[in-house]
Amino acid sequence: MPNNHSQPLVPPHGKKFDLDDYAPGYSGGYDRARAEAEIVALRIRLNDLQDVLYADRRFSLLIVLQGIDTAGKDGTIKSVFQQVGPLGCSVSNFGVPTDEELGHDFLWRYHQRTPKKGSVVIFNRSHYEAVLVERVKNLVPKETWQGRYDQINQFEDLLSRSGTVIMKFFLHISKDEQRERLQERIDNPKKNWKFRVGDLDERKLWGDYEDAFEDMIAKCNTASAPWHVVPADRKWYRDVVIAQALIERLEALDLRYPPAEPGIKGLKVE
Ligand code: ADP
Repeated sequence: MPNNHSQPLVPPHGKKFDLDDYAPGYSGGYDRARAEAEIVALRIRLNDLQDVLYADRRFSLLIVLQGIDTAGKDGTIKSVFQQVGPLGCSVSNFGVPTDEELGHDFLWRYHQRTPKKGSVVIFNRSHYEAVLVERVKNLVPKETWQGRYDQINQFEDLLSRSGTVIMKFFLHISKDEQRERLQERIDNPKKNWKFRVGDLDERKLWGDYEDAFEDMIAKCNTASAPWHVVPADRKWYRDVVIAQALIERLEALDLRYPPAEPGIKGLKVE
């Protein structure tokens, strides 16, 4: 299924990247009703493709989700993968590194969680935190995070040459939308658990995060592991965009169910 939206989803490779050129509220001519109708079929198609990916065993799929707090990483997983069963599909969340993890190189904890052939793994936050929060909060020296873009590109190149298809999605929301979502987390008792007072301090770093996101996208947008800049103020459009992109990529793999063992045609089970 082609993505026929007019705002480019994958920025041109190797160019300077400015988030201001991408409208977080863009909805590609969709309205909520159309998106909610379409996502139902897209979820089913995604499940069919995941099933054949699992059987085929030639490729694995790594999905990377990044975005500022409240950008909708959890919501995307719940919605887009609603029909995909747990067989061969899992989510890896990455929070503050443990002492054990800090005792290794920065890619160590991520490499262990990459998908094996036939599997899908969704990185909810990812190795990109090493050039996002670690940069913005000065957790490592500048020389350290500056060297990481190349290291990340090499890591992803290794994975993709080993049969891992990498799809990276940056969930792009506006600062106004974040205010509303944070307020909702304060006002709605069912969402209080998602809110920490420290989130308000993070919001003050909005501009620094934007700079870090722009560099991440400009420097690590490669042909084999492209960044998709997803307009994410409207959750229903965000889900359609991501589902369509995944379907399009998986369809291009020409996945096949393995052939039957010779001699089983016509066998009758007694
Ligand atoms: P989320 O915000 O993704 O729903 P959590 O509430 O568990 O999940 O937050 C995870 C936290 O871990 C975030 O504040 C994020 O900045 C932090 N984190 C992730 N990776 C790193 C890292 N490499 N170094 C420091 N902090 C990190």
